[in-house]
Formats: sequence, structure tokens, C-alpha cells
Amino acid sequence: MTKSISIFGATGSVGTSTLDLIRRDREKYRVIALTANSNADELAALAKEFSAEVAVVADDRAYERLSQLLEGTAIEAASGSEKLNEVAALGADWTMAAIVGCAGLPPTLAALRCGKTVALANKEALVSAGALMTAEARTAGATLLPVDSEHNAIFQSLQGGRIDQVHKITLTASGGPFRTWTREQMASVTPAQAVAHPNWDMGAKISVDSATMMNKGLELIEAHYLFPVGLENIEILVHPQSVIHSMVEYRDRSTLAQLGSPDMRIPIASALAWPERMDTDCLPLDLATIGRLDFESPDEQRFPATRIAREAITAGGAYPAMLNAANEIAVAAFLDGSVQFLEITEIVSRLLESYSPAKPSDLTDIFAIDKETRVRAKQLVEELSV
Ligand code: NDP
Repeated sequence: MTKSISIFGATGSVGTSTLDLIRRDREKYRVIALTANSNADELAALAKEFSAEVAVVADDRAYERLSQLLEGTAIEAASGSEKLNEVAALGADWTMAAIVGCAGLPPTLAALRCGKTVALANKEALVSAGALMTAEARTAGATLLPVDSEHNAIFQSLQGGRIDQVHKITLTASGGPFRTWTREQMASVTPAQAVAHPNWDMGAKISVDSATMMNKGLELIEAHYLFPVGLENIEILVHPQSVIHSMVEYRDRSTLAQLGSPDMRIPIASALAWPERMDTDCLPLDLATIGRLDFESPDEQRFPATRIAREAITAGGAYPAMLNAANEIAVAAFLDGSVQFLEITEIVSRLLESYSPAKPSDLTDIFAIDKETRVRAKQLVEELSV
């Protein structure tokens, strides 16, 4: 049976890793839609290679280029955020949600409403609208498969077990490139240093999140929505080698973990083939060569992001969406040189302390909170950059 596939964020790190796996067995998959933000050249090349039915750029300014590149092919060229939602609603058997940021929320929801399978990499969508997203998935009877390596590891460790048998979930964290640095050393970090992750090759935003440890904060919130074991039963453990991708401890104190080389194609392959398994050419795990695995507790004095995220999810309501939006703005400002590395978490923290909107009851409320937080976060960026 052929599986129809749509990939949102096809030109990114997760998107291209997904296509790399599909390339292995073209007969098995039929690509419906591929999307990007503005990278029309790469999107057109991928759409042609995989004979997609439609290629969409979110940014209307990239439409002309995309349509020129796809002229004379059977591939429809389109643009705009509404079109993203429209193609998500086409209901591919398997959708990869790999847009970066909260911009991925509407198409992810549209895909979930089709009641098919959605592989979720786009953690910011879940952080901003976790309760709504999981409720929509349940109502539609959709299958939500976590792709983030930690959540995929937990998902795999739960096979054969039940969530009510779980005592504790341990989210592992590499600690990022500055794991051993002092705050003084981190004060002058450059974007190039922050995006150079020691273990994983990822997009710029998640790489900076890993460096501040906000990535682990976002993942804590993500885990809270995906695996309802109680926030107090989800802990973070720094494990610099990124070999154990997370662990589940059951009530009888038996602990199951998923291990693998730090290659995103492994969790993506698990979601792509699920409930089967597929061959990959990823490096096998060579524990004898690795030799040792190290663990340490997170240091929230040097990396306060996980504490801030825990406080945001404990406060609930609008706070997770605000945390995410403020962080997106702060990371973008750091990458464009407007603020310093340590100011990223400072902006998030100051925002959460200074703004307390009412609890959102629907998607419209979440978007309003997201929008207002971005305006306020940009004001903080301006204050800090003068
Ligand atoms: P990248 O930056 O590499 O790619 C992002 C993709 O989203 C690109 O296709 C980009 O298009 C598209 N995009 C960016 N902004 C918008 C927008 N406003 N509207 C529509 N499309 C947009 O990101 P990653 O692949 O690294 O990450 C994607 C998601 O997966 C993130 O949520 C991240 O946290 C999560 N994730 C990533 C992992 C990784 O290893 N990379 C691991 C676990 C989770 P264009 O190319 O045109 O800019």
C-alpha cells in the first residue's frame, strides 16, 4: 500500500531528513504537498524530485519565483498561510509537522482534524496550544506521533506499557555547547558559537534553544501534554553524549530507555514506518567505542530556562504560549545581533512577570496572546539593544 505524505517545513533540517528516508523507498510513498517559508529554489527542486502535487511557500513574496521554477510541470505552485491550511486539510495519510515556531500551529491543527497520522516535530505549536491540540487530535481520532528525539524515545519506551503504570519520565539533555561555561563566559557568546551544537545538526532556532536550555524547557511542556504523568514526575537529566534519548521508569522501578546515534532520521524513521520498522543507513550505536555515558543534574543557576518553563506550565493558562512567543522573538533578536545571549532568557522571564492575560479558551485567544506577547517582547528587545 502506498502512503500519501505531506511535509510542512520540507526545506528545513527535519523536512530534508524526512525526505532522505522517503528517497530510500519511493514506491512506498506518494508525496502530496511540500511547503517552505520562502526558500522557493529548494522547495521547487524537492517538489520536482518527489513529484509532489502541490508546493506552497508561506511567504507570498516567494510565489513568483516558485511558480517560474515549476512552470511546465504538473506541480501546483501556491503561497500564503491560508493555502498551507488548505493543503493540510487534504488529509495525507501521514503529515510531517516540521515548520519552526508557532506559525506551524494552524496547518498542524488542520492536518489533525483529518483524523490521520501527524508526526510532530514542531514543538512550539504544542507548547502554545497543547490542551487544544491534543483535544482536537482525540476528537478527530488522529494519531499524533512525537518526532522530537526525547518524546519519540518516551513513546517507544511506552510500547507494551501503559501511562498509568509510569512512575517517572526522564528527559535527557545534552546540555548544549555551553554546558561547562560560566555565566561570565556565556555573556559574549556569538550566534555562530550558539548554533554549533556538539551532537546534533539542526536548524538555527532549535540550536540556540539547546544552547540556552530553553529547548529542554519547551520539551518539558511538550512531554506534559503528550504523556500525562504529572509535571512533578517529569525530570530533566543532563547526558552530554546524547545516546540515551529519554527514559521511562515504571511503578515496579523497571526503567526502559531508547538509545541511538544522535541522528534525527532515527526518530523520524520510527514515526514514518510506525507501527512497523524500516531500514535506514543511520550509524549503528557503537557503545564500545563510545566507552562511557555521563549524567549530571541540570544547573538552573547558569541555565534558568528550564525553571522558567516549569513555572510557566505550572501557572498554565496563557503562560506557555507567552513563553514560546517571547522566546521566538528573543532568539530571532539574538541571531540578528540585537541582543546578547544571556538576554534571551531575561526577555522571556521579564515578559512572563509583566504580562498576565486571561486564560485562553480557544485558538483565537491563543493567537491574540501570541501576537501581543510578540509586540511586548520586541519592545524589550529595543530597550535592551539601546
Ligand atoms: P529549520 O529552520 O531547519 O526549518 C524550518 C522549516 O520551516 C523550513 O522549511 C522553513 O522554510 C519553514 N518555515 C520557517 N518559518 C516559517 C513560517 N513562518 N511559515 C511556514 N514555514 C516556515 O528548522 P528545523 O527543521 O530544525 O526544526 C523544525 C521544527 O522541528 C522546530 O519546531 C524544531 O524545534 C523541531 N525539531 C527539530 C529538530 C532538528 O533536529 N532539527 C529536532 C527536534 C525537533 P524556509 O526554508 O523557506 O525558511
